[in-house]
Amino acid sequence: MKIAIVVPCYNEEAVLAGTTRRLLDVISALNAKSGADAVLLYVDDGSSDRTWGLIEGYAKQYDCVCGLKLAHNRGHQQALWAGMEWAQRHADAAVSIDADLQDDVSVISEMVELFRKGNDIVYGVRRERTTDTRFKRWTALGFYRIVRWLGGDILYNHADFRLMSRRAIKALLDFPERNLFLRGMVYSLGFPHTSVYYDRKDRAAGESKYPLRRMISFALDGITSFSVRPLRFIVYLGALFMLVSLTAIVWALIVWLRGTVVPGWASLLVSLWFIGGAILLAVGTIGEYIGKIYSEVKRRPRYIIEKEV
Ligand code: UDP
Ligand code: MG
Repeated sequence: MKIAIVVPCYNEEAVLAGTTRRLLDVISALNAKSGADAVLLYVDDGSSDRTWGLIEGYAKQYDCVCGLKLAHNRGHQQALWAGMEWAQRHADAAVSIDADLQDDVSVISEMVELFRKGNDIVYGVRRERTTDTRFKRWTALGFYRIVRWLGGDILYNHADFRLMSRRAIKALLDFPERNLFLRGMVYSLGFPHTSVYYDRKDRAAGESKYPLRRMISFALDGITSFSVRPLRFIVYLGALFMLVSLTAIVWALIVWLRGTVVPGWASLLVSLWFIGGAILLAVGTIGEYIGKIYSEVKRRPRYIIEKEV
């Protein structure tokens, strides 16, 4: 049984040595315990630091370390996708984990055990968010809430730490879309699945590659990739405004008939700005989806592999 551990890396030179050491330990434990034949696949997502050089070094040094180098930085999700395509060809199951090992590597053997017992997908779920900043915790919680509210089906507190069997990966790779939100897509696959729970740690070194700007954009991508409900809201909002304007017309008529029309500058100004803002928001939301359609119809390759070791 071949297990691939897929690790996307973007400018991770600071953590790679530690990560490799710990994952190699995991691999030898796996091999010893369950007779698995485990490999470690690093997907270098177009890093601009020494990440690829390090990966090449490890690949030379250890037989079980492989590397893929994407020609350009395509983002975490696309790098993972590239890793899964590789894993589908080379392994019976793949475990995806972030390079910073904030997720607990010691549950990987548990995942493999559950895979042996017939689960196609094993989700790693965070127990507590004690090590995250209050801000990150709060925004993450808000995100899950919004997604649920919009009808999206994702697993609470599960990021991209999971095991997938080959047939689950195959099913996933059949999704033609370019805008990837893997945790939502995988969850929609079904298949026999289960979860393992762990505590998430602090990043050992290096910086988070998801600053606020990218977090917001990832959240928006996630929502617009599975739900068209925001478009529906715009319709409701429009209807609401029509109602409001109806009362405003009645009110304006009454005031006009009474002959006291001069005051009204403030209400005019306020509604002007408000309606202007609402229209911009609505147009922007529609634009978000049109942008998605645009990038989908282009059918560009998801990523380009520059090198493989
Ligand atoms: N990552 C990537 N491409 C990117 C950004 C991030 O492959 O453009 C990888 C990164 O190397 C790490 C994982 O995605 O392995 C998650 O990133 P990070 O730990 O910085 O995110 P956070 O845990 O702060 O959400
Ligand atoms: Mg991290």
